[in-house]
Amino acid sequence: MSKPANAAEIERIAVLGSTGSVGTSTLDVLRMHPQKYCVEVLTSNTRIDVLREQIGEFKPRFAVVSDPESASILAQEFAQDSSVTILSGARALEEVVALPQVDTVMAAIVGAAGLASALCAVEHGKKVLIANKEPLVMTGRLFMQTAERTGAIILPIDSEHNAVFQCLPADQSMRDVSRVHLTASGGPFRGKSWNTLKDVTPEQACAHPNWTMGRKISVDSATMMNKGLELIEASALFDLPARQLDVLIHPQSIIHSLVEYIDGSFLAQLGAPDMRIPIAHALAWPDRVASGADTLNLAEIARLDFTAPDLDNIPCLALALSAAEQGGAVPIVLNAANEVAVEAFLQKQIGFTQIPQIIEDTIDTFLAANSASAPENLAGVLNIDNDARLRAAARLSSRP
Ligand code: NDP
Ligand code: MG
Repeated sequence: MSKPANAAEIERIAVLGSTGSVGTSTLDVLRMHPQKYCVEVLTSNTRIDVLREQIGEFKPRFAVVSDPESASILAQEFAQDSSVTILSGARALEEVVALPQVDTVMAAIVGAAGLASALCAVEHGKKVLIANKEPLVMTGRLFMQTAERTGAIILPIDSEHNAVFQCLPADQSMRDVSRVHLTASGGPFRGKSWNTLKDVTPEQACAHPNWTMGRKISVDSATMMNKGLELIEASALFDLPARQLDVLIHPQSIIHSLVEYIDGSFLAQLGAPDMRIPIAHALAWPDRVASGADTLNLAEIARLDFTAPDLDNIPCLALALSAAEQGGAVPIVLNAANEVAVEAFLQKQIGFTQIPQIIEDTIDTFLAANSASAPENLAGVLNIDNDARLRAAARLSSRP
């Protein structure tokens, strides 16, 4: 019989972005293991209807609502409830991840908006489950070097990176690794010629064949910018140069990535395309807990296919691979311009095939005016991010 849970043994979790796709999958896993985990913090931006229900069920001590108007509505509703404190304001996310009673932070905010809180969790030496890939793309090795200094444990949630992590030796040494192959489903437009995608709508772009995800990453998957961001993310997480990373199209999304060793061995991690698997893995690491995901029936799946991506037909992936090779400021500019362009596409201000044009022009004008060298600190990262967003916005308003 298992011994009864002792309050001191329960791991206390802050779920940043709890109302999103990864956030709700995280709560699905946590709900299955009340004797192991409790929720200390939940956060959202505007979806307070979802957050309200989550507060009712998980009874966190703190809830952060980034959007001030939504925060004031929720704060009024919970004014008489002393069990939960509703916070807002630019620094609230950093304050909650730094709380001494928070053991583990799930970083699942989307985009650069999650950078400061994720890095703050690392600065405070927390166990950080990192789903939010943009901070890693923006800060590169700075993120991991901060973790080395503070002792923070970084566990990747992005399914490819979690797969690589699982295929590495226990000490995470890259010594005998010759290459890492990141698999990609190819998204909803796999096999289509880029030139035929001009009239794609946000709804079509967000209809991913294998995964259910938030809208920004769904568009990134449709352009395959997501895989480019993931290659940069992998380079930062595993300290591997871009030339040792590649992308393999694998439409079934069953193999989540592969690590190739110098002796010719390939190790792969397989699983259903369900984010609860990497989430459960990282939560329990180095142990294992049930995730609630379906098991794989390989006999039914029967075959697994692989092809190399045709970069001439996938402009966003080509731009990202070039940014990964250039390094320094370029991935930051790429990421910022992509966020601006994807939002404009989701708002129906630009067409789908204009996304790479905005990004390429933003990188070109940035490099014409600035050095491409890597910033030394977070302030430098944020300056480049801001500059690139202004350039991308200007490019949007000046487009023909
Ligand atoms: P969603 O859009 O579903 O959720 C995003 C979360 O972030 C929501 O809780 C949202 O709040 C919150 N949020 C949005 N903007 C802000 C802001 N400005 N300030 C504070 N909070 C904000 O995204 P996903 O869950 O799909 O993705 C989250 C991250 O994980 C992304 O970086 C993505 O690339 C990565 N990822 C996602 C995967 C997936 O399967 N979904 C797989 C691998 C990685 P609200 O609900 O109120 O808008
Ligand atoms: Mg992924």
